[in-house]
Amino acid sequence: MPNTPDDLARLLAGADHAICLTGAGMSTESGIPDFRGKDGVWQKVNPMEVANMQTFLTDPRRFWEFHRPRIDMLSGVEPNPAHVAIAEMQRRGVLKTLVTQNIDRLHSKAGASDVVEVHGSLSRGQCLQCRTMITLEELVVKADSADDGVPRCNDCDFPLKSGVVMFGENLPVAEITAAYDAAERADAILVVGSSLQVAPVSELPAVVQGRGGKLAILTEGDTPYDATADVRLRGKAGVQLTETVTALDALLN
Ligand code: NAD
Repeated sequence: MPNTPDDLARLLAGADHAICLTGAGMSTESGIPDFRGKDGVWQKVNPMEVANMQTFLTDPRRFWEFHRPRIDMLSGVEPNPAHVAIAEMQRRGVLKTLVTQNIDRLHSKAGASDVVEVHGSLSRGQCLQCRTMITLEELVVKADSADDGVPRCNDCDFPLKSGVVMFGENLPVAEITAAYDAAERADAILVVGSSLQVAPVSELPAVVQGRGGKLAILTEGDTPYDATADVRLRGKAGVQLTETVTALDALLN
């Protein structure tokens, strides 16, 4: 029988150091499609092709054709009740570090703290040749004023990339280290909206379980950890997490 938000609240309230891992399913209720859900981005384009370092290096125009409208879409979205609930859990001290695979900045917009963005962030642009960093606003102005839609570095004229990690690109070492450090300290992990198929972050639940910690999963779709999860919730993250906060308040007060 599926678990309830009450079960999740009890698991979290009973932990000394619970952390959270979120994925694209966290933001679908804000209007951002996920990758592998039924309305996911992969149904329409192949991210392995357009969100790929090889495409960026060999055909930056094709890369930017896909990314420029995506920046507008991602800049116009707002946090949903699931983001608010996670921030509330942190405020109550029930959740500590929040590791996210999302690049949409919605956790921070909702007031979350200690957010580790393991797949980068939309908030900046960078030159991979001379390492110059620029703001998202500068990146957009450059893309829109270029004849071919490709923003270029002021210093070396190399095509600029957003701070989002692409397929074929290394993950940021500091963030991955911070995520694993958090898992090494945790006695519980709550996973929301991730199919747990993208390594190395998909291994964080195993790190926590390996230390005897608890695992809670809330996604509509299946994950490889479903059989060993202590709490397994299905359904919409917004409703389930809002009810979990209500249940936590009843337990904690
Ligand atoms: P995924 O697409 O592989 O899996 C998403 C999971 O969330 C699926 O199981 C889906 O059924 C579930 N889901 C969708 N909507 C839900 C909802 N409202 N409530 C509960 N569950 C819901 O996502 P992933 O594991 O994060 O991997 C995708 C990769 O793509 C990540 O690396 C991420 O960086 C990137 N991505 C990010 C965004 C974003 O920043 N918002 C969007 C798309 C993809």
